[in-house]
Amino acid sequence: MQLKDKVAFVTGSASGIGKEIAILFAQEGAKLVIADLNKEAADATAAELRQTGAEAIGVAVDVTNEAQVDASVEEAAKAFGGIDILVSNAGIQIVHPVEEFAFADWKKMLAIHLDGAFLTTKACLKHMYAQGRGGSIIYMGSVHSKEASLLKAPYVTAKHGLIGLAKTVAKEGAKHGVRANVICPGFVRTPLVEKQIPEQAKTLGITEEQVIKNVMLKETVDGEFTTTDDVARVALLFAAFPTNALTGQSLVVSHGWFMQ
Ligand code: NAD
Repeated sequence: MQLKDKVAFVTGSASGIGKEIAILFAQEGAKLVIADLNKEAADATAAELRQTGAEAIGVAVDVTNEAQVDASVEEAAKAFGGIDILVSNAGIQIVHPVEEFAFADWKKMLAIHLDGAFLTTKACLKHMYAQGRGGSIIYMGSVHSKEASLLKAPYVTAKHGLIGLAKTVAKEGAKHGVRANVICPGFVRTPLVEKQIPEQAKTLGITEEQVIKNVMLKETVDGEFTTTDDVARVALLFAAFPTNALTGQSLVVSHGWFMQ
C-alpha cells in the first residue's frame, strides 16, 4: 500500500484516465475524492470504489469556477481530514484550424486546462501547507505539452503551459515538501479520444482508420495506444515518491511517440 490513508483529490475522475487513477490510488490505500462536472458519474465512481472497501466520495465541481473549486476542496478536506494529493486531470478537446477557431472555444479550452489547474492547485496548496505533511500535485499534460499537432492550438498551448505551472509550484512548494509534476500521455482510447476520431476524419478528409494509423499512432514505436493503466502507474509513481528529488518534472508515456 503505497498511499495508505493519503487523501487524493482527482478532477475529471468520473471517466477515462482520471477514473483509472482513482481506482489504482484506492487499491494503494488512498481515500478518494472523485471531483467531476458530472456529479452523477462522480457519485457512481465513488460508489464503485466503496464497494471494493475503499473510502471515496463524489463531489460536483466545474474546475473553471473558483467558488465551486474552493467549496469542493473544503468539502473534501473536511470529509477526510486534509488533502495530500491533487491530480488536476479534467479536460476536454476542441479541434479546428487556427484561422477557424472561435475565440469563445479558445477561452473555454484555456479555462478548463489552465484556470482549472491553477484554481485547484491554489485551493489544495492551502491545505497542504497548513497540514505540514507535504503533498504531491500532478498535472495531466500530454505529448502535446512537448509537441504540436494540427488543429489543436489551444490544447497544445494549455498543455505546454502546465509545465510552467508545475515548475513554479515545485519551486514554491519545496520548503513545504510539496512536489509538482506533469504526466504527458500519448493517445489513450477514452471518450475524449473516441470523439476526436470521426471529427478529425471529417476535418482532414480521411477515414477513421487512417486517423488512428496515420495521425494518432503514426510516430509511436509500435502502433499502440497508451492505456489508462499505463498513465495511472506513472501517477502512482509521482504520488508516492517520498522526497523532493522528483519534482518539477514532466514524464512522457506515449509508446515512444515523443522521446526526450
Ligand atoms: P474523458 O473525457 O474520459 O474524461 C474527462 C473527465 O473530465 C470527464 O469525466 C468530464 O466530465 C470531466 N470534466 C470535463 N470538463 C470538466 C470541468 N470543467 N470540471 C470538472 N470536470 C470536467 O477524458 P480523458 O481522456 O480521460 O482525459 C483526461 C485528461 O487527460 C485530460 O486533461 C486530457 O487532456 C488528458 N489527456 C488525454 C489523452 C487521451 O488520449 N485520452 C492524452 C493525453 C492527455
